[in-house]
Amino acid sequence: MPTLVSACLLGFPCRHDGGDKRDERVLDKLRGEELIPICPEVAAGFGIPRPPAWHDGNRVVDALGADVTAQFENGARQAVEAARTHGARLAILKQNSPSCGTLMTGTARGRAPGRGRAAAALAAAGVEVRGEDEL
Ligand code: SF4
Repeated sequence: MPTLVSACLLGFPCRHDGGDKRDERVLDKLRGEELIPICPEVAAGFGIPRPPAWHDGNRVVDALGADVTAQFENGARQAVEAARTHGARLAILKQNSPSCGTLMTGTARGRAPGRGRAAAALAAAGVEVRGEDEL
């Protein structure tokens, strides 16, 4: 069964700063399995690089002060659609991200307990979500 994986964990340079978060633990753990890379923020139409964003109450705002909640929700919907299309029941996602964080996410005051928008949407759709530190 395929597994969704945050693309940055696989080495795709899709982070807001144009970098990646390649994680050898993830690559080793999932070696030989069918992987579906996802980047909810790029799927939502954000560029690379882009201003960093974080949760502010029920909204997501970026470093320029723009309300990007709708775009983040769009990216979350596309992640759920990818899971449905490919029949994935497990997603390995980047911790601390406002999209992908499974236990911790970004806020205006730094990292805080909570799920990113895509991680929350996937969990609500019945997909098991784990951070790279929960393998
Ligand atoms: S949205 Fe997710 S996959 Fe994309 S760069 Fe951020 S943490 Fe990585």
